[in-house]
Amino acid sequence: MDDIIGEALDRLINVEMRYASGVPRGIIHRLYDAARAEQGRPLTTLAVEAIMAAVKPGDRVLVVTGAGAPPYLPAGETDGPLGAVAIAHALDRGLGAKPVFLSEARNLGPIIATAEAAGLSCLPEELFAARPQAALCEALVLAPEDTMAQARDLIARHRPSMVIFVEKGAPNAQGKFHSITGMGRDRTLMASADHLHAAAVAAGVPTLGVGDGGNEVGFGRIPEAVAEIQEFGRECRCGCGGGVGTVVPADVLVVAAISNWAGYAIAAGLALASGRPEALHDLEVEADMLAACARAGAVDGLTGRQAKGVDGTTGATQLAIMTMIHNIVDNARRPLMRGF
Ligand SMILES: [Zn+2]
Repeated sequence: MDDIIGEALDRLINVEMRYASGVPRGIIHRLYDAARAEQGRPLTTLAVEAIMAAVKPGDRVLVVTGAGAPPYLPAGETDGPLGAVAIAHALDRGLGAKPVFLSEARNLGPIIATAEAAGLSCLPEELFAARPQAALCEALVLAPEDTMAQARDLIARHRPSMVIFVEKGAPNAQGKFHSITGMGRDRTLMASADHLHAAAVAAGVPTLGVGDGGNEVGFGRIPEAVAEIQEFGRECRCGCGGGVGTVVPADVLVVAAISNWAGYAIAAGLALASGRPEALHDLEVEADMLAACARAGAVDGLTGRQAKGVDGTTGATQLAIMTMIHNIVDNARRPLMRGF
């Protein structure tokens, strides 16, 4: 996928639509600029090129998602599952690869519902291995004494050609997890994405991180920028002495105003690069995914409403973004004979 398309997709998915108060705003374009300067080319392009280089037909790819924590978000957020499923759907339909979803057990309901809305059935291992349009779903353990062993086991058992993190929170230099508003989160409630990342790196497996705040896997590439730009970047409110930014990097970091949108842009790029337009889910599927995700218990992470919204943006906005992404890649793949 060329840089012209990547540039257009990057710009579209980085339009911030935050509420006027209560959450950090005016931030996403600065985080994007920092990630772009550090990586040099359109982030969507880099992600698509990395996936195309690493993932072959039949390969397994670990897709890790799930944001938020109890008690307020007992089954997670609508931001994360849809982007993760969009990429998984593109891996399956575009590249013939095998997606394995990983999240805290509490988040799997909405992830499975979202995947099924996209025609990706979450099946037992045998069936998953035997047929396309299938995914495997596994729960990440939370007990601190087990997380590293599980991470190594997941890499050894699935031998993935890539590990993709979508809106997946990760710890700061003190090993502490945080919300973007600076609140500390009990580590025993959060999957150890840092351990999974470390296990992937140790096995030589490439990683991709997608995020919208600075506390998600991938932002360890630009820790100084997050410290500078985010409201609680230097100092959190939990007293650990660090900021909300994570130290966990990724081989490619994609920044977007809403993480799902980065997933859509990457899926669009995979559809283009693979020559399979159907790898990018359509608007009808998008609407079904959002409804299914909320129905299964996920909430808008900003408003806390179990409704068709994502990070304070409406269901209509998700469809609008998808409409424009489709238009960008549809036009990119066909010549125009103007005839005048
Ligand atoms: Zn802290």
